Amino acid sequence: MNDINWDKLPFGYVKTDYNVRCYYRDGKWGEIEVTDNEFINIHMAATTLHYGQECFEGLKAFRGKDGKVRVFRPDENAKRMIRSAEGIKMAPIPQELFIEMVDKAVKLNERFIPPYGTGSSLYIRPLEIGISPQVGVKPASEYLFIIFVTPVGPYFPEGFKPTRVVIYREYDRAAPKGTGTLKVGGNYAGGMAATSRAHDEGFSTVLFLDPREKKFLDECGPANFFGIKNNTYITPKSNSILPSITNMSLQQLALDMGMKVECRPIPIEELETFEEAGECGTAAVTAPLSEIYDMDNHKTYTILHDDKPGPVITEFYHRLQAIQRGDMPDVHGWTHIVEM
Ligand SMILES: *Cc1c(COP(=O)(O)O)cnc(C)c1O
Repeated sequence: MNDINWDKLPFGYVKTDYNVRCYYRDGKWGEIEVTDNEFINIHMAATTLHYGQECFEGLKAFRGKDGKVRVFRPDENAKRMIRSAEGIKMAPIPQELFIEMVDKAVKLNERFIPPYGTGSSLYIRPLEIGISPQVGVKPASEYLFIIFVTPVGPYFPEGFKPTRVVIYREYDRAAPKGTGTLKVGGNYAGGMAATSRAHDEGFSTVLFLDPREKKFLDECGPANFFGIKNNTYITPKSNSILPSITNMSLQQLALDMGMKVECRPIPIEELETFEEAGECGTAAVTAPLSEIYDMDNHKTYTILHDDKPGPVITEFYHRLQAIQRGDMPDVHGWTHIVEM
């Protein structure tokens, strides 16, 4: 080691040295454990396997030019994971425990943090599962919280290039008042048929509609949606989308750049009027949309006529990454430095 080709890293799993774990038993979280075991040994009747008691997070650590290691807004991931856990009746992980375990997982795997300038980062994946056996539908009494890390290349290896997405009316990823606002595996299972079909049909992902009326835009598979027009950043308000930390950050960057921000229902037809549109999330950072195809109405909404990312989303892309890597002042206190 290191025989990793930092410039050619895929967005996938690479084995690292350690992962960190903590068990919830008898009503409390125990000691943090460190292991090099990539496997978990759980009861076949564990609630996670039958009733989907599982939630997760995704965040990244970056090596700066100054050598420091920064994790982007881990406090927000910690808070969201508490909401997700409580939403499916799992034991919430205290914020301090979450941050301590993030720091530990990053530190123990320091040699896997991609160097500055490669465009790669260390992806951090916290997950919680219900592990005690249950056959009737009831929350587990015991939980396992794990954090593993893996070095990842850019989500789009072809670079910051516009992609095409598709709207289908026959799929929802979440119900109107269901679990759409929680980061739970069940939503991904629910959305997988639509997402696979989109890939098969040559689209990068699905743009889901609001599940009640199918009139408004919800979000893209694992990323939030936003549109830009008249110097305004517009993003959907809905009870079935996951509040993205990247989206929250872009809203602030838009304000910093002198733009207005609107968080409101966006009717599908409004796609006609956007000067730029994009998806955003930790994995992809932000990706421009060139075209949205409404499959049921055979209608194409063309956003970019020359297939070149627009100026606003390009600025977002560079600013966000500059803050994450310490190349721009972190005026909002978003980065958390891991002491090595
Ligand atoms: C994780 C996730 C996002 C992106 O959230 P970030 O906090 O920006 O990474 C968007 N939509 C869904 C459904 C997600 O699970």
